[in-house]
Amino acid sequence: MAPPLIGITCAWNEDEERFYLGRHYVRAVERAGGLPVALPALVREGGVEGLLGVLDGLLLAGGGDLDPFYFGEEPLPVTGEIAPERDRFELALARGALRLGLPVLGICRGLQVLNVAAGGTLYQDLAQAVPRPLKHYQQAPRWYATHGFTVAGGSRLAGIMGAGYRRVNSFHHQAVARVAPGFRATAWAPDGVVEAVEATGPGFALGVQFHPEGMAEQDPGCLALFAALVEAARLFSLGRPGGTTGVCRK
Ligand code: MN
Repeated sequence: MAPPLIGITCAWNEDEERFYLGRHYVRAVERAGGLPVALPALVREGGVEGLLGVLDGLLLAGGGDLDPFYFGEEPLPVTGEIAPERDRFELALARGALRLGLPVLGICRGLQVLNVAAGGTLYQDLAQAVPRPLKHYQQAPRWYATHGFTVAGGSRLAGIMGAGYRRVNSFHHQAVARVAPGFRATAWAPDGVVEAVEATGPGFALGVQFHPEGMAEQDPGCLALFAALVEAARLFSLGRPGGTTGVCRK
């Protein structure tokens, strides 16, 4: 059987006019047994639906800020660079994935996209919104964990990484404010910042605020997140009408 096809969304560099995708995302999906494909932001009608028809799983990757417009706010001065085509593309992909039950893992910005796509909101800048915030934009290597992370027992995330306290890396200044309907928070930093959300229903829709792809070589719990996505994608492909992994699909 062919490995499940996992689409990974690309970032956009305006100055260089290039899409790009960090190699750690690709390597983590490969190591977890998936077949990764890079997804540049498409702009023509039908592109998102076309992708949703062939992908077995979706990985919403990290990147810059989501335009606060999408959660009903005007931008604060600290808002970073906005990539309008990427925002539109990823929100449409995320909504489509949730509609179809296509397994989706959101990482950092990807968690934020997932939460907003499902009707939640973000803090534009957690340092201004959270009392006594920790440092969430670390100045340390990506593989190095800098703040605490407590996983709720009984959650899907606990089933993947284990419940309780561990440490994770952190490269964000936006954060989940209101958790989307149909989702719940499942991990927190010691300052109360939401560090993971997951769908309460049966479908695999999970987001983490840290970067497991950067730690997957050292930390089996981080690689397990990708393995969980790939396994959910395998099951999804088997259950899809007219489609099974390894069988040619029109
Ligand atoms: Mn953090």
